[in-house]
Amino acid sequence: MKKICPHCEKETSIRHIKENERFEVRGESIEVPVEYYQCDECGETFENTRDHDPLVTVYKEYRRRYDMLQPDDIKQWRKRYGLTQKELSQILGWGGATLSRYENGALQVDAHEKLLRLAMEPHNLRKLIEESPQVLCDEKRDRLLKEIDAEEDEANSFEMLFEEKFGRYAPDEFSGYNRLQLSKLFNAILFFCKGGALKTKLNKLLFYVDFRHFKEYTVSITGVRYVHLEHGPVPENYEFFTAELLRGNDLKVEEIIFGDFSGYNLIACVEPDLSVFGDSELRLLAEIKEYFRSFGSNQIRDFSHKERAYLETSNQEIISYLYARDLQI
Ligand SMILES: [Zn+2]
Repeated sequence: MKKICPHCEKETSIRHIKENERFEVRGESIEVPVEYYQCDECGETFENTRDHDPLVTVYKEYRRRYDMLQPDDIKQWRKRYGLTQKELSQILGWGGATLSRYENGALQVDAHEKLLRLAMEPHNLRKLIEESPQVLCDEKRDRLLKEIDAEEDEANSFEMLFEEKFGRYAPDEFSGYNRLQLSKLFNAILFFCKGGALKTKLNKLLFYVDFRHFKEYTVSITGVRYVHLEHGPVPENYEFFTAELLRGNDLKVEEIIFGDFSGYNLIACVEPDLSVFGDSELRLLAEIKEYFRSFGSNQIRDFSHKERAYLETSNQEIISYLYARDLQI
């Protein structure tokens, strides 16, 4: 291609080079794709300044390998409570620009990763806020503490009810090495039901988004287990989850009848809270919704029937996420 070479300072023939480069991070060797340009005339290489710093990708991969928080996870969590970087830094007892550097892609040290994980538990955040009374004004502190209490109550009551009914299961190949993430499950349902989704289709969309995420990252999004039923894979106890959303008026249901077809159309009545998802999760939610946009219930059912995950399991069996390797998409 013809482009201006910054060394020759004129239009020359430029090659766009994509290759892998190895970086060492804390004793770990990480290979990431890098892109740069090379001028055919002078042989000099240069980068497109719009391209990402490769270290951002390297750190992201390092965090993924060690299951560490990504910058967006930290930022989203802070914003959920309406805290500024300065306020949260003081609550965590961190000085200066530490938090801002992490939110912008710097790799957090292990002690900070641990503290962040702990602080993300609502009861620990409550303690940290109470222990630093000078950071927030009374009004903001009271509002936050109330929010945290409400969050804990809601999470406890529904999770307890769920465990009572269905028992607790460990993160393993059947849950995609994840614990049940109720807020992700609910918001994924709301995301797919924006503008309406037939129940059969919704169940398959959830299956595909979880299994695709597992295929790429060896962890599911929602921690839901999927069961082999006649109409394809469906989330275990899905009636219970949709009932919970219907009860809270976050979702409504309409029966649709065309000739001898009848089905239930689920329509989201509120916007999903996308701040609960990480980057890779958001990307896949959008990709799966788009991929199956034109599929009707029968088409997506027939498509799912061709999955090894379906062909090699029998009725009522819980489907292992290890089948995600052979997913058709
Ligand atoms: Zn040149």
